[in-house]
Amino acid sequence: MERCSVLRIKRLPESLIRKIAAGEVIHNPSFVLKELVENSLDAQATRIVVEIENGGKNMVRVSDNGIGMTREEALLAIEPYTTSKIENEEDLQRIRTYGFRGEALASIVQVSRTRIVTKTEKDALATQLVIAGGKVEEISETHRDIGTTVEVRDLFFNLPVRRKSLKSSAIELRMCREMFERFVLARNDVDFVFASDGKIVHSFPKTQNIFERALLILEDLRKGYITFEEELSGLRINGIVSSREVTRSSRTGEYFYVNGRFVVSDELHEVLMKVYDLPKRSYPIVILFIEVNPEELDVNIHPSKIVVKFLNEEKVKKSLEEVLKKNLARKWYRSVTYEEI
Ligand code: ADP
Ligand code: MG
Repeated sequence: MERCSVLRIKRLPESLIRKIAAGEVIHNPSFVLKELVENSLDAQATRIVVEIENGGKNMVRVSDNGIGMTREEALLAIEPYTTSKIENEEDLQRIRTYGFRGEALASIVQVSRTRIVTKTEKDALATQLVIAGGKVEEISETHRDIGTTVEVRDLFFNLPVRRKSLKSSAIELRMCREMFERFVLARNDVDFVFASDGKIVHSFPKTQNIFERALLILEDLRKGYITFEEELSGLRINGIVSSREVTRSSRTGEYFYVNGRFVVSDELHEVLMKVYDLPKRSYPIVILFIEVNPEELDVNIHPSKIVVKFLNEEKVKKSLEEVLKKNLARKWYRSVTYEEI
């Protein structure tokens, strides 16, 4: 048998390492959308416009009116592990922004043709960067209001197998819309617009509160819902949930947010199903915002950050159960028509 030689182990070229790593953060156009919208929100935008073409496979463009970047900042931002959001290990314990890993832009520019146009309050002109497959091809000046536009074209053009594994435009479009709606539901303080292939599909103005926003998006919820804002055991649980009579035949109406971040959680799902106790294949519509002390939360377990870990999971589950039980028992479900909102 041939003996393995250590010499055969080689370090991959830096460019290949970056490409492979990029694929771990960005799976499809909806993840590009997610990362760009998160950056806009972290930049304190109050208006965010998302435009996609061909389900995002040809283009995902996110424009915001946030704080923008200077030329130096923009050039730094596309490098791996550069972030303005945390500085040291202690900051990691109290994350308040969506981003903190400094990986998204660096990943996106590796696997697409990206154009960034951005302007800060201090600058007279905007900076424009054009990057293709990780290479900066153009640095120029142009006109723009304060804020940032990031346009991502031809995702995975340089990773052909990945490109092929993208779904049909219709499916990618649906995933982009779902991703977009997760933000719209959580951030009633921001105007959101979504356009696909040149047509505006959604336009959501700011609303007074999260409940109003939810009723704009999830129309079936208007047939009967309960809202609550509760505090117990150091947790805050706000929600708008369907009454037991209003259900869906799939799990599509389930939105959990932990400290503002949309999460997928089988543990919280179980609590829901237990409390609602519905017939088979019936699911409630539930938008729940759980606020915990950031020190009791580990958001650092997955690069796409959709999964978070509660350090005291039992407490969270128990509190949620209590809050839901109490509020579902209330006798005054509201049932409204659209005009009343
Ligand atoms: P992270 O969000 O984890 O910091 P990103 O790669 O997503 O990492 O972004 C890197 C940096 O680029 C951010 O920390 C921020 O300073 C800057 N940035 C990205 N997008 C925007 C934007 N839309 N507006 C202003 N600054 C931005
Ligand atoms: Mg980010």
